[in-house]
Amino acid sequence: MVTRFANPLLATPQRPLPRTVAIIGAGTIGPDIGYYLKSALPGLKLILVDVAQAALDRALQRFADYAAKAVAKGKMSEAEAAAVTAGVVGTRDYRDLAETDWVLEAATENLALKRRIFADVEAVVRADALITSNTSSLPAAQIFSDLKHPERATVTHFFAPAWRNPVVEVVRWARTDPAVVEYLRWAFCTTGKVPLVTDDVACFMLDRIFDNWCNEAGLLLDRATAAEIDSVAGEFVHAGPFFVLNLANGNPIITETNTLQAELEGEHYRPAPVFRSVERWLTVPPGKPVGVADDITGTVRERLLGVLFSQTVDILDRDIGEPADLDFGCRQALGFKKGPLELMRDLGDGEAGRMLARFCNERRGMPAARKPLGDYQGFLRHVLVDDIGDVKVITLRRPEALNALHDELTDEILSVIRYFEEDPAVAGFVLVGYGNRAFCAGGDIGRFVNMLGDAPSSAQYARDCSRLLVHLDRMKKPVVAAINGMALGGGFELAMRCHGIVALASAWMQMPEITLGIVHGIGAMVVPYRRWPQASAEFHGMLRRAERLKATRAFELGIVDGLARDYPELIRAAVARVKALEGKVGGIPDGAVQIAPLDPIAPVAATGQPLSAEVIGILERAVEAAAAAPTFEEALEIGYRAWGDSACTAAAREGITAFQEKRKPDFTKTP
Ligand code: NAD
Repeated sequence: MVTRFANPLLATPQRPLPRTVAIIGAGTIGPDIGYYLKSALPGLKLILVDVAQAALDRALQRFADYAAKAVAKGKMSEAEAAAVTAGVVGTRDYRDLAETDWVLEAATENLALKRRIFADVEAVVRADALITSNTSSLPAAQIFSDLKHPERATVTHFFAPAWRNPVVEVVRWARTDPAVVEYLRWAFCTTGKVPLVTDDVACFMLDRIFDNWCNEAGLLLDRATAAEIDSVAGEFVHAGPFFVLNLANGNPIITETNTLQAELEGEHYRPAPVFRSVERWLTVPPGKPVGVADDITGTVRERLLGVLFSQTVDILDRDIGEPADLDFGCRQALGFKKGPLELMRDLGDGEAGRMLARFCNERRGMPAARKPLGDYQGFLRHVLVDDIGDVKVITLRRPEALNALHDELTDEILSVIRYFEEDPAVAGFVLVGYGNRAFCAGGDIGRFVNMLGDAPSSAQYARDCSRLLVHLDRMKKPVVAAINGMALGGGFELAMRCHGIVALASAWMQMPEITLGIVHGIGAMVVPYRRWPQASAEFHGMLRRAERLKATRAFELGIVDGLARDYPELIRAAVARVKALEGKVGGIPDGAVQIAPLDPIAPVAATGQPLSAEVIGILERAVEAAAAAPTFEEALEIGYRAWGDSACTAAAREGITAFQEKRKPDFTKTP
């Protein structure tokens, strides 16, 4: 029996990361998949296989070009680039695959061809070598049905550009060993991807959205031009369907995949005939829409949303994929500005239901909702919840923002805690970040931007943002933070409010707010000094100069209770810490605390960046007053008000504006 964890990194992998991988097909996407693997696992031996030598030559050149670009942009050192490009070979001979741990096929989308390739592969590889296909549409049951060992084979479906796009669909089908699916999820997550599990249906999950969205656009060409349709679609996607089809030479793909859906599921999926006769579309690039008459906008908008909502309810009714994965995948893999379920929620059940009903009426056969629309919305969007014994592990999953907090994520964590807090079968909670990079990269600046210059509103905003933290202060059941990577700003403020902290030895914390010209809104000027007064000199450096604190040093200082070498050990330590804290959770104590003196410093960050002396002054006064405050609650109030004061400085305006404009702030012109 294989335990399926929502967070892939909680699984115990049944085999190590691969040492040798072969990619079959060195065309558009194969080399990009290879580049992702080599970037994540530089020691990997990668074999690129193609029938065309020219394709292999181009692929090897692409590796060199990507690596050179990464070095030029400062994203890779020369040594790293050399490791990524080393150990990559091209071949046309399948016999070279004998020693591979994993064969990943990305050859031309053709059923007969893929079946032939898998027969050839199986003849040379070990019986336990993994075999996966990057097919966009062909069900695993069709391409792998003749394999002697289908239990090690499935579809792993990447999205362009595969070296950077985080999403990969992992297909569960009847004959794959569930342990292989779990291994693949673990391996992808370990190497920086976000695996989404889908059922084995034509086009899996996300391409059902993409292909039908494009096909509907094609069918709408009798009402509007491609440029008009792309312009209307711009409300929902970063690039319109025709623009994307031009980029991907995608017209034949829509013809093929929608023909497959029509054959398997019904005539309503038949591709628009125009895709057979047109090579390129005359359209406009993203951000440069043409003017569209209101009635045409209405027609196009309703049909595009109609097909989107119809596919969404179908995917969920048939359990093809999970709702949070669907929204995530549409945003991150397909370029939607909001996931379809977010869109439906924002429009309201009435309006979304009207559009869906109208669409199903116009496009007979298209799937309608099988339950009230509101029933599709009851899911957690940004957290995963797993059980390890009687401990609930809550994983913050916003990898696109390094798991940064925003209102919805904060409220979801709080709602899960509230839901299980009174349950006698639950001992406590662990909070951890998704993936290997970050626990939590802070809080979204979000609504704060509009409050610059308004001290009372800013202070109230800090109080509002503290609702989860204040709840943690009052809890009796333990919550332990498992810091699995960087913990920045609000992320560290969340961890320090948990009742225990364990961390990867490689993790680190930082409070970069001062580099934005603001102080720390939700507890950092108060809580660490009360909990770990022995480390107050360290905190002064973190708050005033944005110094980093390594987990190993935090352990020496008694801030972190335990260190772990890897994710599984971290989770074990966190769960053990929950058990050790059971029945022993008290609040953060009242009373004044003694802290190290705040000796004057030059207003310069640890990195050398000039800072605002005015904001450092606000910070120092708040830290001193909060330490002297008779109660913890009063100390927090001092912090909220100081945050409000910092929001009224010229430095805050400069810092936040610079952040939005993605430039370095210049505090030399502000006090
Ligand atoms: P492509 O046509 O650009 O490249 C396919 C390559 O496969 C060619 O270089 C061809 O020479 C090679 N090939 C053909 N037969 C072969 C054989 N027997 N052995 C070895 N190599 C062989 O196709 P692509 O766009 O890279 O797509 C590859 C696969 O990935 C398809 O199944 C496609 O549906 C899927 N896919 C592509 C994308 C994308 O963005 N391009 C995205 C998701 C999935």
